[in-house]
Amino acid sequence: MTDLRSLCPEELRSALAPLCLHDYRTRQIFDWLQRRGVQAVQEMTNLPKELRAQLEQECFISSCEMIKKQESSSVARKYLFRLRDGETIESVAMRYSYGWSVCVSSQAGCRMACAFCASGQQGFSRDLLPGEMLAQVQAAQNDLGEAISHIVLMGMGEPLDNYENTVKFLRLATHPEGLHIGQRKISISTCGLVPQIDMLANERLGVTLSISLHAPNDALRTRLMPINKAYPMAELLASCKRYAKNTGRRISLEYALFRDVNDSPEHARELVGRLKGLLCHVNLIPANAVPELGFQRSRPEQVRVFQSTLEQCGLAVTVRRSLGGDIDAACGQLRKRGIPCE
Ligand code: SAH
Repeated sequence: MTDLRSLCPEELRSALAPLCLHDYRTRQIFDWLQRRGVQAVQEMTNLPKELRAQLEQECFISSCEMIKKQESSSVARKYLFRLRDGETIESVAMRYSYGWSVCVSSQAGCRMACAFCASGQQGFSRDLLPGEMLAQVQAAQNDLGEAISHIVLMGMGEPLDNYENTVKFLRLATHPEGLHIGQRKISISTCGLVPQIDMLANERLGVTLSISLHAPNDALRTRLMPINKAYPMAELLASCKRYAKNTGRRISLEYALFRDVNDSPEHARELVGRLKGLLCHVNLIPANAVPELGFQRSRPEQVRVFQSTLEQCGLAVTVRRSLGGDIDAACGQLRKRGIPCE
């Protein structure tokens, strides 16, 4: 069976060809699926009953059933969603001055097993469909009653480990007849899968690429992120240069600061040396607690010193405002099963 929400207009037209529909019907269906974000065929109220019955029989619509919602002082909401097959995932909506941004999960679980991240702790279940990534944005939009203006692919999972579905999701989310989110308002974050970064550079998508770097050298990075064995820093940074050159887009480098692990001024200076010649911007993330993993957040003073060391060497640096830590909705805190209700 086909997931109707995962299809672009041309694919929808050919999938529904046996039903001999008028073009305007197909456009209506695309509108329901993409712009309005319905959860079920029966909600497409301007379609004839018989057509709805046919659609229900021959296709399905990927959906996100909200099973839990937690709110953090009106600036962040975390959702636990159940997918059609019972898998559960988390997404987060965050309010910024420029509008609402949704942090989307790309997989149920994660294969990457980064030492500091909760998402990989329960292993990997499956890739999400493009429609399941869209459904997260739509469910948040419908819950908030306000339009979502930005998307960050920074929830659970490694988006480039689910490459085809992720690229399809990007094409659907930016479609003028769908959610129509601007390409520049979308960021995709990766732990550094080099072949896929090169592929993405050739997709003609204007999205921002974020690299989770977190260390200035291979020894430390491999300890924190096992993927570094397969794609060491030199290869990763070379692929970042290719991406910046091909797309003209500045790379965003994410560096989470863990107390006494990667946050010394020497680490900062080593990082500066590694980033020479790369069109980039460094985003420092005061690490978020995942108690069972034993990593702690750097002291504010260490964060300040790290930031100014980078700045003095001419790098563009921001410190990420952490939202939702009180509801375990911050970076690295999302899980397949959520945190049980107290
Ligand atoms: N797999 C992708 C997408 C996940 S995005 C990636 O690795 O980029 C989630 C971001 O949160 C990544 O930058 C990740 O490294 C970071 N992160 C994970 N655990 C964290 C923690 N405990 N504190 C701060 N950031 C963390």
